[in-house]
Amino acid sequence: MEVASFSVDHDRMLRGVYVSRKDKVGDEILTTFDIRMKLPNKEPVLDNPAIHTLEHLMAVYLRSEKNWADKVIYVGPMGCRTGMYLILKGDLESCDIIDLLKDTFKYAADFEGDVPAAQSKQCGNYLDHNLVFAKYEAKKYYDEVLSDIKEENMIYPA
Ligand SMILES: [Zn+2]
Repeated sequence: MEVASFSVDHDRMLRGVYVSRKDKVGDEILTTFDIRMKLPNKEPVLDNPAIHTLEHLMAVYLRSEKNWADKVIYVGPMGCRTGMYLILKGDLESCDIIDLLKDTFKYAADFEGDVPAAQSKQCGNYLDHNLVFAKYEAKKYYDEVLSDIKEENMIYPA
């Protein structure tokens, strides 16, 4: 079995927004984005409650964003906790979604109030949330990666 994302050189990967893969499903193309928030194997990963809260906040924002909501297939954390996967309908490149991600991470960084859908009926581990850390991580990624993103943060190392 070959899994394309396992063949990317994680030792040379920067934080960024990458196209992980494209899949043809019927007549549609689905683009999976690698939203890489931490340098793999070089810095501490996202704390689990933080990445979990960030997942909830990103889902709420992306699924209600007027231009993109109907293209959002999935958003969720990577098992390694260095970032998130976002699957969108369409044949897309990283530059197509930078503004969307800026808005999404700004929404998370500025969020006030109760974490959305963090009740036991709505979430599989509803006590495992940390809004303070989620906001911190969202702001850090926005400030240090998204705000002035470069080509090398949008193309995997060759
Ligand atoms: Zn949850």
